[in-house]
Amino acid sequence: MEHDCDYLILGAGMAGSAAAKGIRSRDAKGNIVLLGAEPHPPYDRPPLSKDLWNGKKQPAEIWRDIEPLRATLFPGRRAAAIDVQAKTVRDDHGDHYRYDKLLIATGGTPRRIEGLEGERVVYYRTLDDYHALRDGLREGMRVAVIGGGFIGSEIAAALAMNGARVTLLIDGDAIGERVYPRALAGFVTEYFRGKGIEVRTHSRVAAGNATGAGVALQLHGGGSVEAAWVVAGLGITPNVQLAQAAGLAIDNGIVVDERLRAAPDIWAAGDAANYPDATLQQHRRVEHEDAALTMGEHAGANMAEANAPYTHLPYFYSDLFDLGYEAVGELDARLQTIEDWKEPFREGVVYYLKDGRVRGVLLWNVWDRKDAARELIAQPGPFTEKDLRGRLL
Ligand SMILES: Cc1cc2nc3c(=O)[nH]c(=O)nc-3n(C[C@H](O)[C@H](O)[C@H](O)COP(=O)(O)OP(=O)(O)OC[C@H]3O[C@@H](n4cnc5c(N)ncnc54)[C@H](O)[C@@H]3O)c2cc1C
Repeated sequence: MEHDCDYLILGAGMAGSAAAKGIRSRDAKGNIVLLGAEPHPPYDRPPLSKDLWNGKKQPAEIWRDIEPLRATLFPGRRAAAIDVQAKTVRDDHGDHYRYDKLLIATGGTPRRIEGLEGERVVYYRTLDDYHALRDGLREGMRVAVIGGGFIGSEIAAALAMNGARVTLLIDGDAIGERVYPRALAGFVTEYFRGKGIEVRTHSRVAAGNATGAGVALQLHGGGSVEAAWVVAGLGITPNVQLAQAAGLAIDNGIVVDERLRAAPDIWAAGDAANYPDATLQQHRRVEHEDAALTMGEHAGANMAEANAPYTHLPYFYSDLFDLGYEAVGELDARLQTIEDWKEPFREGVVYYLKDGRVRGVLLWNVWDRKDAARELIAQPGPFTEKDLRGRLL
């Protein structure tokens, strides 16, 4: 079958649905087609590891409202190839879509451990993953969570709050140690232990196999863990295969310019895109909601001739039991960090600096300071510890 599209969006996720909104804000008439590999309409992913587990939301409340945008959604369709010259896309059912403007918003694929597969192993990313785990979980079941980053720590907390006995396997010293300063990462790790989670540090999973009751994991250097379910949060790799095969530039994602354009008539946004950040003055790929939504909407508007540079500095957030934060910019624990606590590890701000310039700000249980943090990051500095103390608290 052949379809004609003024605007074709590959990936009906967070960035893709936001792009439809951006297009509609400038073009009331053009037809918008969304091609989505998942069998669902677009939905918000953050509740999959938070609000769907703490009772704040039901699955029916996470859909993104695309109804007013009058876009045509083809769910369960995966784009298989882009022909840049002919301006067509072929999907995995053999249908062809002729486009005027194309957006690639294909997100990322969870990293896997070779050989570790099975019904009780979830590389956590989608609504179907949530349902599989939710339906299979029983009070008191042992669940092994692999990975101490954002997804691993959030899902470990969520499962523990829902009656699972959780073993969290992390390969380093502490939860979130690539992001939080050392003492804060240590605090979070002990906090999780205090909530009944067995946190096993320096535990890298080598392999695993199905057992009658679940999965047995073998660890590097010996040792094993048995669990009814295994949930892995090992990060993602951006879905760039389509773009790569079409000859677009790839470098840790689909490379776009300041207008989020990857090639004439092709844009990219969200987890899959590597964009030039105007404030940090470097190319970066961000795997967070605010980036997906703002880039998606911006790319959509640019597809409809807005032709404006993307200058937003995205923020991200996380909730871990009753700990929570928002963060702006580059949070890399290898940078110089200055901690400014009102109450140690309960309420405070961490500044991440390079050569005296603030690159990132962690607002730990400090709210409504994102814009002030953005302004600070935009300033050239140099800043000393004295300049920053009390600045955002
Ligand atoms: C469990 C979880 C919790 C999260 N929590 C937070 C949080 O608390 N805070 C935060 O800031 N961020 C959070 N994130 C990150 C945030 O959800 C992502 O950054 C965001 O979803 C990225 O949007 P996207 O549109 O780029 O990708 P996605 O939302 O993943 O959408 C991409 C879509 O494209 C589809 N697709 C892929 N290939 C093709 C193809 N060839 N053809 C058609 N469709 C295709 C995929 O199936 C997918 O549906 C979380 C993510 C997860 C998984």
